[in-house]
Amino acid sequence: MPRPLYLYNTAARAKELFAPQHDTVGLYCCGPTVYNYAHIGNLRTYIFEDILKRALLSLGYPVRHILNITDVGHLVSDADAGEDKMEKSARKEGKSVWELAAFYTQKFMENLHDLNIVQADLFPKATDHIPQMIAMVRELETRGFTYRTDDGIYFDTTKFPAYGEFARLDPDSIRPGERVAMGAKRSPTDFALWKFSPKSSKRQMEWESPWGVGFPGWHIECSAMSLAYLPQPIDIHAGGSDHVRIHHTNEIAQSEAATGRKFVRFWLHGEFLVIDRAKMAKSGGNFITLDSLKNEHIPPLAYRLFCFSAHYASPLTYSPEGIKGAKASYFNLLRSLAGTSDVADPGDPATNYYPEAIPRILDDFYQAVYDDLNMPKAMAALWEIVHDETIPPGLRRAAAGKADEILGLDLLAGNPQPSLEEFAGISGPIRVYSAGMLTDLQKREIVTKVGERQRARGDKNWAAADSLRQELLQFGAIVKDLSDGSAEVTF
Ligand SMILES: [Zn+2]
Repeated sequence: MPRPLYLYNTAARAKELFAPQHDTVGLYCCGPTVYNYAHIGNLRTYIFEDILKRALLSLGYPVRHILNITDVGHLVSDADAGEDKMEKSARKEGKSVWELAAFYTQKFMENLHDLNIVQADLFPKATDHIPQMIAMVRELETRGFTYRTDDGIYFDTTKFPAYGEFARLDPDSIRPGERVAMGAKRSPTDFALWKFSPKSSKRQMEWESPWGVGFPGWHIECSAMSLAYLPQPIDIHAGGSDHVRIHHTNEIAQSEAATGRKFVRFWLHGEFLVIDRAKMAKSGGNFITLDSLKNEHIPPLAYRLFCFSAHYASPLTYSPEGIKGAKASYFNLLRSLAGTSDVADPGDPATNYYPEAIPRILDDFYQAVYDDLNMPKAMAALWEIVHDETIPPGLRRAAAGKADEILGLDLLAGNPQPSLEEFAGISGPIRVYSAGMLTDLQKREIVTKVGERQRARGDKNWAAADSLRQELLQFGAIVKDLSDGSAEVTF
């Protein structure tokens, strides 16, 4: 029996003991709409989902993880009105919609890679699953849950009595008005399953259907793709908290109406990253990407660490000071754990070779992770391991390596390197702590410059040493002169 794992289930509004419904845990995560870069607020959700997946794996559960790519038909407004995000952005960038989708899908994958997010088993694209979506809409039609207007096929929410229970929506509070574009909808909560292509203009992405040429509504893709790849009820469906009210509410309605069975057992939602008290959004001015952080010399894994400073279901406030603090902490961790490889291999963490403190602290670590992914608490346990001088450094390193299977911070990456011989003419050793965000060539360039600076210091040429320090700073590389004459560089 694995240790108990407790997760906050939005459907129950309570922390519940996780029990899988199938031999392999099905995990479906709502993916990005690939019309623009993901901002770091979006990425916070994928980091939380990655911790969830790593926690499940650490407990010995096999996991089948599906992360969809929305590459079609998502309108600017969730209420099925306005322009299509993909077509609009493609026009703006002078690309075809297909090129746009390919470009931003690639960028998204790079982000996941930079953040050490374990690859999903499958990244299904909406455009590859139009037949499955059409089949589901047909099923809904057969079962009497749809109606037709002049612009599409709609789901009739009044036919699904449990509609809105999930989000605790008060049906009386939803009235047609300014905020809900009604069009020909019968009820404000009804939503499009299939939209007809406009007669006045030609869409780049459109398909034949039993109802006419058009494109799918946004919500239907997640129902169709999750049920195409995972057995029902799906163990866990996760996404951002902004999906509760509309997207996930609609997914539940159409999936349960089409199958007559429970759709999902556990619903998990990640909260927003906030900046200046506002949610980070693509439409606002506070649009920060992983690339823009890299340009500020913030390693992606320092952002990953930053995300562990709040529980996933609480808002996390972003600030330049906060992220710089996370970077400093990150290097601190690497530095504390580096340079201990001379200590004998501590052996298997499970054996009693460990001093007593290690299993106790690691136990605190896992306890926190399995208590609804409480990462601030888990990090406190990690720091305790790192700072406990009574534990031999090699053992600390091994324990941190174990914790890193869940943290995914590449904690053991800060190895001292390179040797004196490798960089001829360098006087005094150099210790390098790198977060792995630069290419080998860039790293070599930095280390060579540090070597030059060491030589200048050896010659007492302080002006040259200072200007080299400034040059290095432009790469984001920080040099510290240690008392034994060696230099330490972090970047
Ligand atoms: Zn979704």
